[in-house]
Amino acid sequence: MSGFTHEQIELLLEEDCCHECEGYGEDKICVHIEAVAELPTRFGDFHIVAFSNNRDGKEHVAILKGEVLGAEDVPVRLHSECLTGDVVGSLRCDCRDQLEAALKKIGEMDKGIVLYLRQEGRGIGLTNKIRAYSLQDAGLDTVEANLALGFRDDERDYAVAAHMLHSLKVQSIRLMTNNPKKIDQLTQHGVKINERIPHILPSNEHNRFYLETKAAKSGHIIDFRGKQHLPEQSEPTIVEGMTESQIKELYDSPSP
Ligand SMILES: [Zn+2]
Ligand SMILES: [Zn+2]
Repeated sequence: MSGFTHEQIELLLEEDCCHECEGYGEDKICVHIEAVAELPTRFGDFHIVAFSNNRDGKEHVAILKGEVLGAEDVPVRLHSECLTGDVVGSLRCDCRDQLEAALKKIGEMDKGIVLYLRQEGRGIGLTNKIRAYSLQDAGLDTVEANLALGFRDDERDYAVAAHMLHSLKVQSIRLMTNNPKKIDQLTQHGVKINERIPHILPSNEHNRFYLETKAAKSGHIIDFRGKQHLPEQSEPTIVEGMTESQIKELYDSPSP
């Protein structure tokens, strides 16, 4: 197993145990490391770190590759939980492709972190996300569905993520994202970002429509079955093979 030793884990838990701070962001969120374990996966050997927080019962996790404690220039991907996509393989969004691409890339690197943030449906919760899908199915005004799915408390996400990186003593990162605004947000919460790594998905039979369909004015994309693909990871989806102008069109659309 790469990464850190059992002694290092014990020390990290011991030190973090007495951590106190005034909290990050408007919600004054503070997180604690609760448990760390090895996590061999099909994408490589990782460690998984479970966090608790002082605001809600959500158990956020960090998936670590290699020696990231106290490290500089650590590649980091923020992923928002999507039960339907991540677990079931839903094709209504590309969350699973996003997550797999991040784990695969980081699994091949010396070091890196995926922060898996438990904010289903962009923070509105699983039930509301399914309600939004249902509105789309019923052919109702998708504006309503989009509003329901589009609402989220961004500020809190970045505060949690920033604190998690701080808890892991990460000195500076290279953020894997297609959304430059994420860099500003994390920076505001005290994260030092040295570089942005574009997050480009390998093209497959499920995301081929990104290559063949023009983005709608709203920044949304319609797939082969006529379903709208909403950007649930808060950033434009870029698939290998997309042209410069297709990518530009995504950025010119209103931000997700
Ligand atoms: Zn704290
Ligand atoms: Zn999703």
